[in-house]
Amino acid sequence: MSTVRGAAKRVTAAKRTVAEVLVAARGHLTADEITSAVQRERPEVSPSTIYRILEEFEELELVVHAHLGQPAAVYHLAGVVHGHLTCEVCQRTVEIPSSHFDALSRELLARYGFQLDRHHLALSGRCRDCRNARAGVVTPREATT
Ligand SMILES: [Zn+2]
Ligand SMILES: [Zn+2]
Ligand SMILES: [Zn+2]
Repeated sequence: MSTVRGAAKRVTAAKRTVAEVLVAARGHLTADEITSAVQRERPEVSPSTIYRILEEFEELELVVHAHLGQPAAVYHLAGVVHGHLTCEVCQRTVEIPSSHFDALSRELLARYGFQLDRHHLALSGRCRDCRNARAGVVTPREATT
């Protein structure tokens, strides 16, 4: 029995489990979250194996990652492109249709020859709840706008 074949089988099983976790995920998962979900089924799969699998899935364009204002990147299946708004106060992220970027995208391309990546980085700002929570406190600068 070759151990190489055994190892290959384990990697295949790990890949399938990573794919299942990503399909079942609602929203964005960090590599750590993917690792704990995979290890619930296959405790023998190491975090470095999962990183390698995620890299391979990205090269195959099955998976994309984004940065949403936390230190760790988040992953999800490739597919419908969307944008992200991340609140810098509560860290909540909202997905928005990428069509919001159509006009900006066209303009950046025409003027600067720059192609916008709508998904990779989130736009940062303040969400409605956090703005409302501060509504009682009006700073002089906001009062004039
Ligand atoms: Zn990145
Ligand atoms: Zn996303
Ligand atoms: Zn917020």
